Amino acid sequence: MGDSRGILIVVSGFSGAGKGTLMKALLKNYPEQYALSISATTRQPREGEVDGREYFFITKEEFEKMIAEGELIEYARYVENYYGTPRAYVEQKLEEGKDVILEIEIQGAMKVKTAFPETLLMFVTPPTAGELKRRLMGRGTEPEDVIDSRLRRAAEEADGMDQYDYLVVNDNVENCAEEMHGIIQGEHRRCFRNMEFMERIKQDLQRLKGE
Ligand code: 5GP
Repeated sequence: MGDSRGILIVVSGFSGAGKGTLMKALLKNYPEQYALSISATTRQPREGEVDGREYFFITKEEFEKMIAEGELIEYARYVENYYGTPRAYVEQKLEEGKDVILEIEIQGAMKVKTAFPETLLMFVTPPTAGELKRRLMGRGTEPEDVIDSRLRRAAEEADGMDQYDYLVVNDNVENCAEEMHGIIQGEHRRCFRNMEFMERIKQDLQRLKGE
């Protein structure tokens, strides 16, 4: 069909909702379709995180330089750190026809939607708030005060859930990844994403009518 350019997809969700695992599953199942944007951040790497894989870990000065030079599509502060989406990779992959996923928080999501209104916004949540706390604690990577900040932030973010296009409940990674993929496939069929195809059909019909 006509939409050769990829779709820009924002995935947000409470810290601890399992977004990272979901994104890995989507990319593993459909490596040809999706590209995951790697953000820049000033936060310290967690154990096991690799520079250039989970994030580009940079200093505050480097981050501010990227802002000044217009190299970020959006950025936000989240619990004392900066996070931002580098522009070049996203544009290149969309151009190549890949669906590009930004796994970002809500302030960034709203900025992206304003700048690119055709963005698909999805919000991922665990089935219950109790489950969210269990997952955050179970991760064992953050001290208690950081977990508290993240829970407070989750309560704030919950107010913005209704600004998203879709809500997905992550009770099982594989099922949830398939559900997201299904939504994205549906999104490709939206009429406004297929203007060229529709134009072609209309013109062909006009021609056939006249034959
Ligand atoms: P974490 O520190 O747990 O990796 O990420 C904290 C929050 O920052 C998560 O909600 C994550 O989605 C968000 N985040 C990661 N990268 C970006 C980004 O480039 N921009 C924005 N606005 N948020 C981001």
